[in-house]
Order: sequence, then C-alpha cells, then structure tokens
Amino acid sequence: MADPTSLSPHRRRRGLLIVLSSPSGAGKSTISRMLLEADPNITISVSATTRPARPGEVDGIDYHFVDEAEFNRQIEADEFAEWAYVFDHLYGSPKEPIKEALKDGRDTLFDIDWQGTQQLEYAFRTDLVLIFILPPSMAELQRRLHQRGTDSEEIIAGRMRRAASEIGHWAEYDYVLINEDMSKCLDDVRAIIAAERLRRERQPYLLGFVRELVARPN
Ligand code: GDP
Ligand code: ADP
Repeated sequence: MADPTSLSPHRRRRGLLIVLSSPSGAGKSTISRMLLEADPNITISVSATTRPARPGEVDGIDYHFVDEAEFNRQIEADEFAEWAYVFDHLYGSPKEPIKEALKDGRDTLFDIDWQGTQQLEYAFRTDLVLIFILPPSMAELQRRLHQRGTDSEEIIAGRMRRAASEIGHWAEYDYVLINEDMSKCLDDVRAIIAAERLRRERQPYLLGFVRELVARPN
C-alpha cells in the first residue's frame, strides 16, 4: 500500500480514528494486534494507565504505566483527548499523537471503553469510526478471560460483573460485530476500515481531481 505521507499534500486524506470497544475478554486486543501487524498505515493509540503492568506487558508499547500523581498532572495539563475510570484504575488517550496522525493522514486505533468513546465524539465526530465487539455468549466471554491467564479469579469476577453494563452501550457504535470466529471478525473489521477510507468526505482532493478529469476529455 502507498505510504499516504509520501503523496503530495493535495492528495492526502485525513486519518481515521478507529475505536474498538467491547466487554473485557471479547477479543479487541487480539483483533487490534492482528490489524496492526498487517497494515502499516494504522498506529495504535498507546494509553496512559494507573493499572499495574501484567506479566509480559511493556511500558510505552502496551500502555504508558504511570502513577496517579503523574496521571493527574496530565489531566491538569490538558494532555488527554479523553480519560476515564475503568475497573478502579485511570486510563487516558494522549491528545498530541492523535492530532499528528490526523494531519499526516495516518489511521489511529483505540482500544478504549464507552466513556472514552463518548468524550472523543465531542472533539472528533467526523473522523471517528466506532466499532463494538460482542462475545458470542457470556459463558464464552468468561472462558476467554480464564484462558487468557492474565487475571486472578477476583479480577475476572469483577470484569464479568461489569460486562452487561458495557454491552449496554452497543447501540452507540456505528458497527457491531459478534466475535465468534476470529478470522471472520478480523475480515469484517478490515472491510469496515476499507469502506470508511473511501468515504467522499475523507478524500478532500477529489473535487480538484474530478475538475481536472472532466477538463481533459482526451
Ligand atoms: P482488558 O480489556 O481486559 O485487556 O483490560 P485493560 O486493563 O487493558 O483495559 C480495561 C478497559 O479499559 C478496557 O475496556 C479498555 O478498552 C479500557 N481502556 C484502555 N485504555 C483506555 C483509555 O485510554 N481510555 C478509556 N476510556 N478506556 C481505556
Ligand atoms: P480484550 O482485549 O477484549 O479484553 P483479548 O483480545 O485479550 O480481549 O481476548 C481474550 C482471550 O480470548 C484471549 O486469550 C484471546 O486469544 C481469546 N480470543 C479472542 N477472540 C477469540 C475467538 N474468536 N475465539 C476464541 N478465542 C478468542
């Protein structure tokens, strides 16, 4: 795929802000990882969080792991595009990389909850593509949380208790997918992104292109 930043400025499209939300364990981190591996035009928004790192998580890649004082400093300095309390910890999306990506025509992927999604709506509605991932059943959601092997029984129970209220926000999203078969779900997310990139309003250079096209019939 052509690197959009190598196109002359008048051919650049605006980047998309693609939000993936789901109850914990439905598969959004796995889908995000697979999308990023295959598409160099998508970068992930690395959130800041006060949650402790899980084994294997890397600071600056999975999250920016910070303490509460640093998180509050960033709130005060208006450095977040959105932030929220989720499962007793603070999570927030840094604002600066989003602005840079939009300007450069790069797409940004967000793995954030419904509270953060609502906040992004205020500032970025026209750039947003909102995707909600549902599990095929609550029993399968619980099985996936256990199988992931990253959380204690107590934490898993807390995530299951919150799942129904998370799912209650499904209708606030543009697209809703049931993640039963991973490769089908991934194909669907890719199809959504491909179509959204082609929306007329996301290709500001088209007006000039079409004028030139019809001005040169031969
Ligand atoms: P996991 O979803 O079970 O892998 O657990 P995490 O602790 O990584 O994330 C917990 C929840 O916080 C998930 O619903 C994430 O989508 C959400 N989350 C992560 N980063 C952010 C953020 O920057 N802002 C908001 N609002 N939610 C976030
Ligand atoms: P989330 O980021 O939404 O909390 P994860 O991506 O961490 O969820 O997925 C939770 C667990 O479920 C992981 O072990 C992942 O490999 C597994 N998983 C995700 N999607 C599927 C699927 N379609 N079928 C079976 N297992 C899945």
